[in-house]
Amino acid sequence: MVNPLYDTLFGRHAGKATPFLHLEDGQTITHSDFLARTARFANALAAMGLKPGDRLAAQIDKSADALVLYAACVQSGLVFLPLNTAYTADEVSYFIENSGAALFVCQPERRDALTGLATATNTRLETLGTTGGGSLADLAKDQPDVFETVERTIDDLAAFLYTSGTTGRSKGAMLTQGNLLSNATTLVDIWAFTEQDVLLHALPIFHTHGLFVAVNVTLMAGGSMIFMSKFDLDFMVTNMHRATTMMGVPTFYTRLLDDPRFTKDIAQHMRLFISGSAPLLAETHVAFENRTGLRILERYGMTETNMNTSNPYGGDRRAGTVGFPLPGVELKITDPATGKTLPTGEIGQIEVRGQNVFAGYWQMPEKTAEELRADGFFITGDLGMIDDDGYVTIVGRNKDLIISGGFNIYPKEIELVLDEQPGVLESAVIGVPHPDFGETVIGLIVAKAGETPNLDQISETIAQSLARFKQPRKLVIISELPRNTMGKVQKNVLRQSYEAAFE
Ligand code: ATP
Ligand code: MG
Repeated sequence: MVNPLYDTLFGRHAGKATPFLHLEDGQTITHSDFLARTARFANALAAMGLKPGDRLAAQIDKSADALVLYAACVQSGLVFLPLNTAYTADEVSYFIENSGAALFVCQPERRDALTGLATATNTRLETLGTTGGGSLADLAKDQPDVFETVERTIDDLAAFLYTSGTTGRSKGAMLTQGNLLSNATTLVDIWAFTEQDVLLHALPIFHTHGLFVAVNVTLMAGGSMIFMSKFDLDFMVTNMHRATTMMGVPTFYTRLLDDPRFTKDIAQHMRLFISGSAPLLAETHVAFENRTGLRILERYGMTETNMNTSNPYGGDRRAGTVGFPLPGVELKITDPATGKTLPTGEIGQIEVRGQNVFAGYWQMPEKTAEELRADGFFITGDLGMIDDDGYVTIVGRNKDLIISGGFNIYPKEIELVLDEQPGVLESAVIGVPHPDFGETVIGLIVAKAGETPNLDQISETIAQSLARFKQPRKLVIISELPRNTMGKVQKNVLRQSYEAAFE
């Protein structure tokens, strides 16, 4: 039977004793071991009566078995729906109900807490642990280790991935086999992944970065992963010499740089460090190069489209940019009001089209119609520009744009200035309601350890570099920026806290 995603990522490794996962306890799982366990899981799912096209929701800890479950879904034609482990029972109930999942797999220790939810949503509940345990693993134990792969086409759904919810309620992005395949193929090629690669994997696997970028790319290339259950600086520093590549969010890189044990020697063996999911500060990029002699490769993507752009593997990786549109991805900058393409160098909304673009939001036809144009371009919600050399720069999200007295203000421009001021570690600039201007600017500042930035002094200094309408009407020192699990700054949380500041 033909199942393009299964055949290309998993099936091709049948019978190979090559390493796939190096676990923290020193154990290595080979491709053939992994596939045998996948088949057992697929048989168990079929024995439960799950049918191709059914949704399987999983809120489980990161482990080899969590990946087995993903593979088993692909092999049986089920739509895999991984959920952030931080979600509470109330939040999970929205996802289960919204997706109409036929089976919900949870952590063994949460079974009792979630039984009511499963009953109320008429969903079967099973559990999966991190070391081979759980009711699903028990059911799989005595199943045959071969399974007849279910036939699929590239237009069939492979996953529902819920967006990170940074700008509002998470939306279920429907991703087809073709979406995932096309992107993985491109990334393996442009980032030069091979079976020699060993990827240091510390990202969560309920998100596109850790699952569809890191895991699919490794599977397609035939390489292996040092599979960490979570980000752990000590483990990372002591094991980096065994790896050749790493994918991370910007906070991984700032934490590594904060640790004096992270030296050039340790990074010597690495051929590639990739960053994404949130903006990497140019300052981090430079500090990293100074420390290791290597330049981080920054790329840009999202749940709905997988990856859209990347800095070049072979050419100039420019700090503060996300590089070029990937082969097969069209990217244009348009005027939010008219949808017309803007000239080079002008800031507008980023739109993308290609085989990577999702099939729409699950059961949200209006939302889908708002963001996915009839001609196939997806309005990403990000604002950016393309420079003369073709590099794309992201200036922020459309929803974070501040309009004050009729002028557009891009928070990033002000944040870059604030970040350079004495004693400032990082900053976030938001717009809040203002009786005269509609909106006005507030700058929230996090101080460097042990320092107290002088706010009056900062206001005076930035008045020299920023037009009056862009200058924050208020600067506030806060202890840290609110971030979600992917390291994204939650500006909606900040806006809520300061919404009454000028009333
Ligand atoms: P929601 O759509 O629910 O509000 P979200 O957009 O944060 O949440 P994701 O799909 O996880 O959910 O994240 C995609 C977003 O992350 C992009 O639209 C972009 O704003 C941001 N992003 C990803 N990579 C980069 C990058 N290299 N630089 C800047 N921003 C990035
Ligand atoms: Mg989004």
